Amino acid sequence: MITRRTLGLGAAALIAAPAISRAQAPLRLLVIGGGFGGASAARFARDSYPDVQVTLIEPRTRFVTCPYGNLVLAGTKQLDAITFGYDAVRARGVTVIHDLASGIDPVAKSVRLAGGQALGYDRLILSPGIALRWGAIEGYDEAAAGLLPHAWVPGDGGQTALLRRQLEAMEDGGVVGIAIPPNPFRCPPGPYERISMIASYLKKAKPRSKILALDAKEAFSKQGLFQDAWNALYPGMIEWVPGNRDGKIVKVDARERVLETEFGEKHRVAVANVIPPQSAARIAIDAGLANASGWVEVDPVTFEAKAAPGIHVIGDANTAPPMPKSGFIANSTSRQAVASAIALARGAAPPADASYFNTCYSHVGDEYGISVVGIFRPGPAGFVETPNSGGVSPRGNLPDQRRLEAIYADAWYKSITDYMFGA
Ligand SMILES: Cc1cc2nc3c(=O)[nH]c(=O)nc-3n(C[C@H](O)[C@H](O)[C@H](O)COP(=O)(O)OP(=O)(O)OC[C@H]3O[C@@H](n4cnc5c(N)ncnc54)[C@H](O)[C@@H]3O)c2cc1C
Repeated sequence: MITRRTLGLGAAALIAAPAISRAQAPLRLLVIGGGFGGASAARFARDSYPDVQVTLIEPRTRFVTCPYGNLVLAGTKQLDAITFGYDAVRARGVTVIHDLASGIDPVAKSVRLAGGQALGYDRLILSPGIALRWGAIEGYDEAAAGLLPHAWVPGDGGQTALLRRQLEAMEDGGVVGIAIPPNPFRCPPGPYERISMIASYLKKAKPRSKILALDAKEAFSKQGLFQDAWNALYPGMIEWVPGNRDGKIVKVDARERVLETEFGEKHRVAVANVIPPQSAARIAIDAGLANASGWVEVDPVTFEAKAAPGIHVIGDANTAPPMPKSGFIANSTSRQAVASAIALARGAAPPADASYFNTCYSHVGDEYGISVVGIFRPGPAGFVETPNSGGVSPRGNLPDQRRLEAIYADAWYKSITDYMFGA
């Protein structure tokens, strides 16, 4: 017979039951984004914390890496070689759900998926990458990108293949225009590697062609090394126009393939690659995590978003100067973020003495690689570069060094993609 008393006890037991079972249940680590930061975080969590339940949310079933996309443009790599699936991630014991996270409730600790499902979590790792700021360049929207490709996000709706086809179809003697955004943006050396790789293709296939690189900035990563290589390998082929010489593109006419600068100069080109200004991906902005500039400020030890502790934001979506927005940093910081998330969930302190590593290799020509290296640590007010810890490749006529760095670059790419997607 159910008395008031037993009903009360029963109700209390019912209320307490989920708490007891949650306490006994494995800790739930949810990872949003299956790219460089997210796939690395899932791998590290799975390998290092066998008792933690790891779930990865990623809409795409095939991930096309941005790194080495410039070699696809050069024709020296095929898209298949830079495309990866999630079977091995699953085989490791990560639950992979191919869906888009459409909302985060940091108070309820729950993520809503576009497919309608809601997933609870104990700690959330968010690595959704970037969004392109459509309209920041007048006339440059998603439709315009179908004519003037950006090729700047992974699995980019065929953008890299489109740009490659346009280069192949261009007549010898054509001008390739490249619009380069202001800082901060994904992969600081990326546009300049792209200039180099397109030049290497043109030199072989269409040697009368030119590249007009229109830059919003006055200086760029590994500038001396890139410009040395351009002079040596592609003399007279590349014109780089900095922001203070009217290089900033503010408007495009996609149909006419015209790039218009700040002071009204119009450049009509045969092929245009427009890399627009960027922000953190939409989910980070919609969740209220980003600051006014569009990036997520994080704690330099735990990578928790300042706006929502408990959500650890890694990869390009965060703002962590002087660290660059690179796949290497996304991978390197994922370990500290996961270790901190799990320690904090268990009531322990996050690991001390964190350090974060970066090496950005760039291919500049056949068997010609250059790099920049940096080691960073948490500081009192953000991230700090460890003095004398890195630097760029030496300048000068050093063919053996360039050849070796191209080999190191290939080895880096293989090892990081094996780590993220390999068995
Ligand atoms: C041309 C080019 C060359 C580059 N070369 C190098 C290089 O040589 N070395 C290097 O270190 N870096 C390089 N980079 C930079 C590197 O690609 C990025 O820094 C890296 O991809 C950042 O990792 P991420 O996890 O932040 O984002 P991404 O790798 O872009 O992954 C983000 C993932 O999140 C998913 N996602 C987004 N929103 C949601 C959502 N709402 N729900 C679920 N999933 C979501 C996306 O589908 C995507 O798969 C290059 C970039 C470019 C453009």
